[in-house]
Amino acid sequence: MKLALVGIGKIARDQHVPALVASPDWELAATVSRSGTVDGIPAYTDFAAMLAERPDITTISLCLPPQPRYPYAEMAIRAGRHVMLEKPPGQTLAEVHCLRAAAQAFGVSLFATWHSRMATAVAPAKAWLAGRVVKSARITWREDVRKWHPGQDWVFEPGGMGVFDPGINALSILTEVLPHTGHITAADLEFPANRDTPIAARLTFSGNITADFDWRQEGPQTWDIEFETDAGPCALRFGGNRFEVAGQEVAGEASIMGEYPLLYSRMADLVRSADSDVDLAPMVHVADALTLGRRIVTDPFQF
Ligand code: NAP
Repeated sequence: MKLALVGIGKIARDQHVPALVASPDWELAATVSRSGTVDGIPAYTDFAAMLAERPDITTISLCLPPQPRYPYAEMAIRAGRHVMLEKPPGQTLAEVHCLRAAAQAFGVSLFATWHSRMATAVAPAKAWLAGRVVKSARITWREDVRKWHPGQDWVFEPGGMGVFDPGINALSILTEVLPHTGHITAADLEFPANRDTPIAARLTFSGNITADFDWRQEGPQTWDIEFETDAGPCALRFGGNRFEVAGQEVAGEASIMGEYPLLYSRMADLVRSADSDVDLAPMVHVADALTLGRRIVTDPFQF
């Protein structure tokens, strides 16, 4: 199946292009970007022109930041194309509700991807937790924004979500492995004095769940979710790539597929079965945190 990749930036180059080149399901048939290209692939700068000129391309994968993404998704759906959305699936929940309704009306597949759910140890952790009573969970997601988003000012602009851009990955895992994550009851959000989105967030959920997101961690990076259960402690570490029970690793060998190949395999299944997959649970928690959050002004931030 022929696919066009839109927004040839960091994640498109790091993950989408290699996953597509190796995919048995997909042919990368075009790119659309104001400046980015992929060697050997027809490149367009005008999305509407690409849609008009290439009726053979039936699926569009959008790798743009969330702020400019909605009009592209809507245009693609209205042109009868299947659409795959990078995470977070939109700037707002209502945007994604509109896209879901449009996809249904135009009879196309819509996939709101959560790449972290495809990490190696997430499925084994979900299976292990399914038989246990979870007494508490603690998320610690601390990384260095300068390392992972060098110069990407959009993360600090309205709609960019700030530290929830990585934090939503943790929430996507949490909402995958636990059947009920309750709701956020309190949030402290630290906003740099010169920015519009938070650089750190501490969340409290009903049901003894907490989250500590921070974008100022230099040195070793932390992407952990630790659980206390009726069968003792367990933990997902390294962004869902390692699962430990009572401190012993029980799952986490390097995946033969990897997160993005699995996303594209899932998208192929959705297209073939004329289905959609749009789970907004992680984004509901982010929206609630931003609604309930106490604003704390902190030091200005520059890349
Ligand atoms: P990026 O490199 O800053 O931007 C991606 C592309 O979007 C750029 O090539 C740019 O292309 C285009 N773009 C930016 N602003 C635009 C605008 N206003 N209008 C039209 N095109 C615009 O971002 P990224 O890091 O790849 O992230 C993109 C998405 O992937 C985000 O939702 C992010 O959360 C998600 N993601 C990122 C990572 C990561 O490690 N970076 C990991 C997983 C998921 P042109 O300027 O050439 O048009």
